[in-house]
Amino acid sequence: MSAFTHERRAQILDALRQASATLPCPRCGHTHFSLVDGYLIENLQKQTRNVVVSGDNRFTSIVMTCDRCGYMARHALDVLDGHD
Ligand SMILES: [Zn+2]
Repeated sequence: MSAFTHERRAQILDALRQASATLPCPRCGHTHFSLVDGYLIENLQKQTRNVVVSGDNRFTSIVMTCDRCGYMARHALDVLDGHD
């Protein structure tokens, strides 16, 4: 089962187009990318010791991968969702 609904997937891809995030792969020049099916969630840290994992320091992104070389283009979800 997919993480993204058809509507959510279309919304994400449309937001990328509206932001002009459609350039070819910076590594191999290929023009086709695929949306990874799910959010990438990491936790931002103020220091390298005493790692804190909680909802308060969560950083969420979506990932597009180049279909040829696998280059990963990450887009911050809060910025992307700000584009209509
Ligand atoms: Zn590539």
